[in-house]
Amino acid sequence: MLNDKQFRFECENCGRCCIDKETIVNITFFDIKRIYSKLKLTIDELIHILGFYIFDKPLSQDTLLKMVISPIITEKGFAFLGLRKLENNYCFFFDKEEKKCRIYEIRPDICRIFPFSFEYKDKDVINIIYSKKAKQYCIGINNDAPTINKNKLKALALEFSKILKKNEEIISDWNNILSKKKRKLSIRDFIEYILKLEF
Ligand code: SF4
Ligand code: SF4
Repeated sequence: MLNDKQFRFECENCGRCCIDKETIVNITFFDIKRIYSKLKLTIDELIHILGFYIFDKPLSQDTLLKMVISPIITEKGFAFLGLRKLENNYCFFFDKEEKKCRIYEIRPDICRIFPFSFEYKDKDVINIIYSKKAKQYCIGINNDAPTINKNKLKALALEFSKILKKNEEIISDWNNILSKKKRKLSIRDFIEYILKLEF
């Protein structure tokens, strides 16, 4: 079931969503594996394109539950996994001359669903909304933009929900492994762990 709202959107390629200083480009393990294999990266190169964003204060259980993608545990505390951001806040893959994504065909799922956000109310109810960030700066949302096909949005929402669910399982497994290990695990251990997973 979907909400009845009509959604209008057509990307104007302004690039704002790729350079927003307050946005982390969250990635799932599916994104990591896809980018790693399609770009034929080495593990060092993969580590270089990733960012581990550490919280400077402890997170409450309530806050953790509200997060779409959970953080992983690191020896420095909770960290969100995303694409590296450059000094000017540009996403690592944003081409500032051409003002476009350099990996558009294999971009992370979170970029694919933007400017939408999905609320999974229960098993069969998906509430589709424009994301808060999109409402602030996405010029592709306007009254002249074409209406988005609801069935396509629903299919995207369902696909994203499955990806998130599996991703959360992987994060939970990794966090459990980490809490049982005697020695500290490095980022390289983490990358090697997820690259070995079959999904
Ligand atoms: S902010 Fe909106 S219009 Fe601009 S590039 Fe991102 S999706 Fe497209
Ligand atoms: S991966 Fe591409 S679409 Fe996503 S934020 Fe980076 S440049 Fe933009």
